[in-house]
Amino acid sequence: MDTQRLNEVLGDAGEPAYRAAQVWEWVAKGAAEYGEMTNLPAALRERLEVEVPLSTLSVCAEARSDDGTVKTLFNTADGRPIEAVLMRYRDGRRSVCVSSQSGCPLTCTFCATGKMKFGRNLSADEILDQALHFRRVEPIDHVVFMGMGEPTMNVDNVLAACERLPDLGVTNRRTAISTVGWVPGIDRLAECEMPIALALSLHAPNDGLRSQLMAVNDRFPLAEVLAACERYRARRRRKVFVEYVMLDGVNDLPEHARELAALLDPRGYKVNLIPYNPTGAYDGSSPERIERFRAILAEHRVPATVRLTRGRDIDAACGQLAAKAAA
Ligand code: SF4
Repeated sequence: MDTQRLNEVLGDAGEPAYRAAQVWEWVAKGAAEYGEMTNLPAALRERLEVEVPLSTLSVCAEARSDDGTVKTLFNTADGRPIEAVLMRYRDGRRSVCVSSQSGCPLTCTFCATGKMKFGRNLSADEILDQALHFRRVEPIDHVVFMGMGEPTMNVDNVLAACERLPDLGVTNRRTAISTVGWVPGIDRLAECEMPIALALSLHAPNDGLRSQLMAVNDRFPLAEVLAACERYRARRRRKVFVEYVMLDGVNDLPEHARELAALLDPRGYKVNLIPYNPTGAYDGSSPERIERFRAILAEHRVPATVRLTRGRDIDAACGQLAAKAAA
């Protein structure tokens, strides 16, 4: 919800200062309409209904996977496309993957969002509205910033959203921010008071290959990125999650696994191997190759798991739905 607009309307109506907090409490608990906010005067509820929409976003399309994953394509008020995904796990976890930007200024070659034109940074309200969309359906307990955009390039708004996520039932410990290695952003997370998890999208174990896949590596090469991760670890005393998307014949060879193992201190990193949702440029590695890669990491005592794929049948990878809609 547009909190600035809410404050303006409440101020204009001469309402006491605590009203904004009352409204937010209802919204954060998943209220779907002002009518539910029974501690607000009826006339005020009617006025807010007309003047302050409960969300800054409108739903353009929604896709549902057989595994329970729901992916929603939204438009911002100025017509920018963004996506968010609700992932439902068998153990009861409900995790929402949110976008931090419409499009992305970076151009990672394996990513559908990277092929879209960059729109703009999202506001904290627009980030929260993605999570709130699903909160209205059911309780949620995890949020990951792994949707469209590079969150640490919009770090003020991302952190402002994180501050309010606990109101929705998502603690900071259950919030993860994923970066492609934007060093100033990693340092900012290391310094921040909230115990937010850091995920590093590494995807290649050497600078040559990484620069081919991710242009950002020319700006922040591997050694600088890993040094920033070490600063985060020293300060937060938490492991860093390393994301590694498995591209057939590109970064999934045994020598890549050995190189990766040599880069990472087994005590400080946990690797997530991500089966690839093909977006055209690459094929995904077979389950056998992924397992071979994982086994080599394990031989070197680097903990690694293969990420459960969610929503494969609905183009659930970052940017796929928006890219399709724009085509
Ligand atoms: S992977 Fe992330 S940083 Fe790279 S283009 Fe896609 S959204 Fe941007």
